[in-house]
Amino acid sequence: MSYRPTADTTSNPPQTSGAGRAAFAADARERIFRDLGLQAAMGGANGGGDWFASGQDVLESRSPTTGELLGRITQAAEADYERVMQAGQQAFAAFRALPAPRRGEVVRQVGEALRRKKDALGALVSLEMGKILTEGLGEVQEMIDICDFAVGQSRLLSGPTLQSERPDHRMMEQWHPLGTVGVISAFNFPVAVWAWNAALAWVCGDTTVWKPSSKTPYCAIACQNIVNEVFRANDLPAGVSGVVIGRGATIGERLIADTRVPLISATGSTRMGKRIGAVVGARLGRTILELGGNNALIIAASCDLPGALASAFFGAVGTAGQRCTSTRRLLIHESIYDTFLAQLRERYAQVTIGDPLAMATHMGPLIDEDAVAAFERAVAAARQQGGEILYGGTVLAPLYGRRTFVEPTIIAIENSAPIVQHETFAPILYVMKYRTLEEAIALHNDVPQGLSSAIYTDSLREAERFLSYGGSDCGIANVNLGTNGAEIGGAFGGEKETGGGRESGSDCWKAYMRRQTNTVNWGGQVHLAQGVQFPG
Ligand code: NAD
Repeated sequence: MSYRPTADTTSNPPQTSGAGRAAFAADARERIFRDLGLQAAMGGANGGGDWFASGQDVLESRSPTTGELLGRITQAAEADYERVMQAGQQAFAAFRALPAPRRGEVVRQVGEALRRKKDALGALVSLEMGKILTEGLGEVQEMIDICDFAVGQSRLLSGPTLQSERPDHRMMEQWHPLGTVGVISAFNFPVAVWAWNAALAWVCGDTTVWKPSSKTPYCAIACQNIVNEVFRANDLPAGVSGVVIGRGATIGERLIADTRVPLISATGSTRMGKRIGAVVGARLGRTILELGGNNALIIAASCDLPGALASAFFGAVGTAGQRCTSTRRLLIHESIYDTFLAQLRERYAQVTIGDPLAMATHMGPLIDEDAVAAFERAVAAARQQGGEILYGGTVLAPLYGRRTFVEPTIIAIENSAPIVQHETFAPILYVMKYRTLEEAIALHNDVPQGLSSAIYTDSLREAERFLSYGGSDCGIANVNLGTNGAEIGGAFGGEKETGGGRESGSDCWKAYMRRQTNTVNWGGQVHLAQGVQFPG
C-alpha cells in the first residue's frame, strides 16, 4: 500500500499549503496508525502484552513537518519500568534455554513481518521523524537486513578450540547469553538502531528493554507491536522485548543505573554518552556507545568529479543533515576548489524542500524548534569565527505553518574554528582547501569525533594512504563513496568522542554474550599450569 500523497504538495521555492495538505495528512496518518495498531492515546510501557502506564506525565508526539498532533503517550513511571524489567528478567530465564537456531527462526519471522509492514512503518518514520519517504523505507530495509544477518548468525555463535599446554586437556571458548540488554536510541534512526541491537541480542539469547527517543515514540510502539505478534505466535514468554517510553533524565537514568542490566547500548549525542559511560562504568557494567560524528570527505584533484559531487550532495543534504554520518566537512584540493563548489552550489539550488512524504522532496524539516535554533546559532557562530556563507544560511518562512525548515548551507571556514569542531545536527557543510594529502589527513583527523570518513581519488596511493594506520582515524573509512549510508554487514561505530562502540554486522554479536573459557582434563592425572609442583 502506498502512503504517499495523491497530489504533490512540495514546491521549490516552498509555499505554505492549505486545506488539501491538511486533508492528506489526516488521511495518511489514519491509514498508517490503523495498519500499525497505533492509537491517539496510549500508555508508554510494554512488556510483551498490552500498553500501559501508571503515571500522569503525558508526551505529545507531533509531526515535525506540520506540527499536527499525532497522539498522546503517557510516559512510563518508575513502577511501569519495574514491571517491564521484571518481565525481561523472567523471560530471560526461559529464552536463553531455547536453542540459538530456534531463536534465529523467530527473528526470521520478525524480518518477514517487517517486510509485510515495510510501507506503513517507513511512512511512519517519515511522518514522525521527518526524513523523506525513500529514507524511511530504507531504514526499515535496514531492519529487515539485520534480521536476515542475525538468522545466519544464530548458527554461528562459535568459539575456538585451543591447544592446552597440559597433557590430556582440552581448552575451548563458549559464548553464553548475557541477560537483559538496555537499548537507548536517538530520534534520527528511530527504528533501525533498535533493530541492529535487538535482532542480535535475541539470537544471542538475551532479552531487551528499549528506551526510545521521546521525539519518536510512535515508531517504537509500532516496532513493539510487530514483534509482539510474532513472539506470541511462537509462544515465547512475554518480556523478550520490552519498551519504556520516558524521559532520559528519569527512566533513562533508572535504566542505566540498573545493576540487573549487564549491557547498555546507547545511541545519541556525545554529551549523553559521557553521562551513560560514567554511570554504567561506575557499576562496572558494559556499554556500546554510538555517539556524535564530525565526518569529512576529502576531494582529491584526481577524483571522479560527478561521483564526488553526488556523494558530497547526498552526504550533506540527505536526512536534512541529521545522520550521525552526515558529511559535515569537505576538504577540497585547491586545484579544483572553485570548480567543485560552483557545481555543488548548482545542485544545492535544485534541492526541493517540503513534505517528506511527497515524491519530489529531497529534504524534509529539522526535528523541532530546538534543532532550528541550534542551526541558527551555528550559522551565527561560523560568521563570527571568520566563516563565509557560500549558500543558504537561513531558516525558511513557515511551511505548513511550521518554522522547522532550513536552507541547506555551505560555509567556507577554517577547520580550527570552534564551531567546526562541534557536531551541529543540521544541513551545514563546512568547506576548506588543502594542498597536500598529508595536510588533508591532518585536517581530517583534527576534530574530537571519529565516526565516518571518505576520500574521492583515482590515485591508488592516496586511497591506500587514507586507509592506512597513518590515514583516517575513524571507525568507518570509505574510498570513492560518501561518509553516510553504511551497510549492516560491517561493524558500525567510531573512535574518540564517538564512543568506541560497534553495532550491527561483522562480529558485533560478541558484545551481547558472555564469554567463557573452559579447560577439560580428560586424562587421569592432575597437571598444574606453568609446570607448578604442589605436594598432594
Ligand atoms: P540525545 O543524546 O539527545 O538522545 C539520545 C537518547 O538518549 C534519547 O533516547 C534520550 O532520551 C536518551 N538520554 C538522554 N539523556 C539520558 C540519560 N541521562 N540517561 C539515559 N538516557 C538518556 O540524541 P538525539 O538528539 O536523539 O540524537 C542525535 C545524536 O545522536 C547526534 O549526536 C548523532 O550523531 C547521534 N547519533 C549517533 C549514531 C551513531 O551510531 N554513532 C547514530 C544516530 C545518532
